[in-house]
Amino acid sequence: MNDGHLLTGQFQTLFFYLSLMSNIIPKKTWNFDLDTADTELPDRSAFFFPSTNGQPKIYLCGHSLGLQPRKASIYLNEVVDQWKNLAVDGHFAGESPWINYLEELHQQMAGLVNAEKDEVVIMNSLTVNIHLLLSGFYKPNGKRCKILLDFPAFPSDIYAIRSHLEVRGFSEEDMLFWEPNADTGFFENEDLEHLLLKYQDEIDLIFISGVHYLNGQYLDIESIAKLSRKFSITLGLDLAHAVGNVELFLHDWEIDFACWCTYKYLNGGPGSLGAVFIHDKHHDHHQHFLGWWGNSIDNRFEMKPDFTPSIGASSWQLSNPPVISLPPLRAALDIFSVYGMSKIRAKSKLISSFLYQELLSIKESYFTLITPEDVDRRGAMICLRFAQDGRAAFQYLSDHRVVVDYRQPDTIRVAANPLYNNFEDVYRFVKVLEEALHQ
Ligand SMILES: *Cc1c(COP(=O)(O)O)cnc(C)c1O
Repeated sequence: MNDGHLLTGQFQTLFFYLSLMSNIIPKKTWNFDLDTADTELPDRSAFFFPSTNGQPKIYLCGHSLGLQPRKASIYLNEVVDQWKNLAVDGHFAGESPWINYLEELHQQMAGLVNAEKDEVVIMNSLTVNIHLLLSGFYKPNGKRCKILLDFPAFPSDIYAIRSHLEVRGFSEEDMLFWEPNADTGFFENEDLEHLLLKYQDEIDLIFISGVHYLNGQYLDIESIAKLSRKFSITLGLDLAHAVGNVELFLHDWEIDFACWCTYKYLNGGPGSLGAVFIHDKHHDHHQHFLGWWGNSIDNRFEMKPDFTPSIGASSWQLSNPPVISLPPLRAALDIFSVYGMSKIRAKSKLISSFLYQELLSIKESYFTLITPEDVDRRGAMICLRFAQDGRAAFQYLSDHRVVVDYRQPDTIRVAANPLYNNFEDVYRFVKVLEEALHQ
């Protein structure tokens, strides 16, 4: 989307608000100019929507599980048929020989996070990858043994970190937490800097989210990376809520390592494979757990005991890839490759700002928005913290075909995914939410 289009989009948004205010759009002939005007992004018919009694649901839960791309089952059938008809020869023959299947996805995934191709590998699942990465990048030395996390970190990340602390003879006490600022309610880099100053001789590793899973804040990763370099502390990122949601420049920002899952904003399907980024400055830094698939391609099939790591992140692979779980991810990444993150993010900013403003317009103080309003400090997801009755509101939404999610003890998370949600979805969601609050 060039600037011209963006501007047009903004004027349309303005027109949209004006027309809503003056009620000139009759509800029956609902026609959102904004939704039809944006021809640069895929038509939402590239995805399947869940429905109940033949009525499609309003799906605003792509931050938890993305929708199924229509091409997923076509690609999946290709692999299944290839297995049926070619069996072991499917590795080298057929429509998409399995031997190269993953390689092509690596290219697309690297493009999505602005990494070099060698810096990215798709493998395992997110928590398993956190363990592998910690095994290589957490290198406690004397009193320099602490790991700094954002608070609250996702439980699985905490468990993984706790395991590595305990295995090396440390304890939970050696986790340091960067908490949201008492005044702003958000993660502020100056607080991080204070922590780093205070504990610089004790912190070995910073491991934090890109976009926080519970308040939706998009952390200022580029500046955090600069800070980590200033203090010579390794920086690892959990990008589960960031990849496919915001633009990332992992190579240029000099992030040491990162990992993410592919079933949220990336739409790779339930439990689809995770991915890992290792900056090329660490390519001589090999993990402690070896597997035959991390052996260089020249040696991999020699069946000899010696191990020559393949170049880059792929040396961290252990096993041959589960090809049968890759086709949905391929279908999803195809869509990202065609449009590119900058266009997707531009639309996301428009639609999520509309959502934010609509939520603000609900005057009564049933909930507070705990996600930053500034579009550069958040992605698509907006989080509503309820003083009370959050669960009842969530139940009402579910009963009225609106899919969002609820996080204990009091938070509803909602995300308009620019690939398949439109302004009408947002408008209807807000109407149902208002009904829920007024019942
Ligand atoms: C979704 C998510 C996970 C999930 O981990 P899996 O190993 O894929 O089950 C972990 N951490 C964060 C921050 C997440 O958002």
